[in-house]
Amino acid sequence: APASRFARFQQTIASAVEEPPAVEELPAPEPHQTFLESVDLFFQRAAHLTNISPGLLDIIRACNSVVEFQFPIRRDDQSTQVLTGYRAQHSTHILPTKGGIRYAADVSLEEVKALAALMTLKCALVEVPFGGAKGGVCIDRRDYSITEIERITRRFTHELHARNLIGSGKDVPAPDYGTGPQEMSWIRDTFSQLNPGHMFTAGCVTGKPVGHGGIRGRESATGLGVFYAIRSILGHDSALRKTGIASPGVKGKTFVLQGFGNVGYWSAKFIHEDGGKFIAVAERDGILYDPERGISIPALQKHMLDTKGCIEGFTNEGSPSLSIIADPSMFLSIDCDVLIPAALESVIHKDNVHLVKAKIIAEAANGPITADADEILNKRGDTVIIPDLLANSMGVMCSYVEWTKNMTGMRLGRLTKRFEESHGHTMIAATDQVLQISEEKNCSLRDAAYIKSLEAIADTYRRAGQWP
Ligand code: GLU
Repeated sequence: APASRFARFQQTIASAVEEPPAVEELPAPEPHQTFLESVDLFFQRAAHLTNISPGLLDIIRACNSVVEFQFPIRRDDQSTQVLTGYRAQHSTHILPTKGGIRYAADVSLEEVKALAALMTLKCALVEVPFGGAKGGVCIDRRDYSITEIERITRRFTHELHARNLIGSGKDVPAPDYGTGPQEMSWIRDTFSQLNPGHMFTAGCVTGKPVGHGGIRGRESATGLGVFYAIRSILGHDSALRKTGIASPGVKGKTFVLQGFGNVGYWSAKFIHEDGGKFIAVAERDGILYDPERGISIPALQKHMLDTKGCIEGFTNEGSPSLSIIADPSMFLSIDCDVLIPAALESVIHKDNVHLVKAKIIAEAANGPITADADEILNKRGDTVIIPDLLANSMGVMCSYVEWTKNMTGMRLGRLTKRFEESHGHTMIAATDQVLQISEEKNCSLRDAAYIKSLEAIADTYRRAGQWP
């Protein structure tokens, strides 16, 4: 039962922060918490701090639907391969549901459910009127040619369409790990071909390229939001006091980035431009480490584009102090002001959390810290965690503008800049509100963000009532 699992979880945490048992008493290592378990535990921890009734909490917590399907694709060598795809729609309290499509080898039913729940909470936190969803295909995209990726994307879109899981008023995908504007363009085109003559088919997906229904600034939006959230936290006395950071502002602070994908790159670019120093960037083939000069983010971006994502051969503009750490998992133990995990979930867990030296962790990725690691850091009390639903919420804010444009047929032109400014203000205001709740309730920023989201969602459900 969920309640007893929560109690067991609390016990595990209590024992993790108390005296470690003598060696001979050590129990067999417990498996890591799954991502879905973590999201669920975060939910329950925050739910205890609200006055929402248990029945309503059950409604909010449940994943409305999740679908797994198999479909064939033809490889370039003419062989056939059967792939697995998923779509989870966590909450239909507001329609359409919204959330990205992930291409990664270990996408699973549980993972898309967890990610869809985070989308519901994220949208509610920043008042974007969508329910939460997420989908994915189990592939490592590096194993496929671009023409194969196109066939996969189009067939996946057909599979969603055949199940009524896509449409501008139903469920609207977007980019996520392993996908980008090109895939969104293929989704839009396939959907339009399947619905000839329908209006507003461009609104069936967001994150499209500018010129194919997309809007300027969508690609950089998530990273820009991460930057705003970090800058806001670095301007707050309480956060500085807690972490022992001596002065406010991004300038001169040291950063470590894990994952140089879309979100990682854009976060780093804005921080770098504001004077932040990236002493390390971790990628899957190693860590670039240059605490003296700092990593040049523009030079690294150019190198990654030239080498299709390999750090090998990067010179950091000829810096003599650049070194490469072969083991990518060592990024956790690098001493810095701000650590930005910007790749996948559960990278910080109970067995490596003791290595964390960063004063602030900004969750650019969804779910990079498991619930038990989060609790250990909270008990330790010297780290501020900017939770995913706040830190990376500007992507979906921008998606909302793109979708609105598609649904009205309006051109935004110079208005795009206005929206970007307004999103910046929303990020700063949301960060302030979350900080305020955390101070009032004496809880972590994550709990505070969950509380704010849960209360907004509960409000919508209360107004709607229950049918029949
Ligand atoms: N995949 C992104 C996220 O996790 C964007 C979702 C969207 O724009 O719909 O927030």
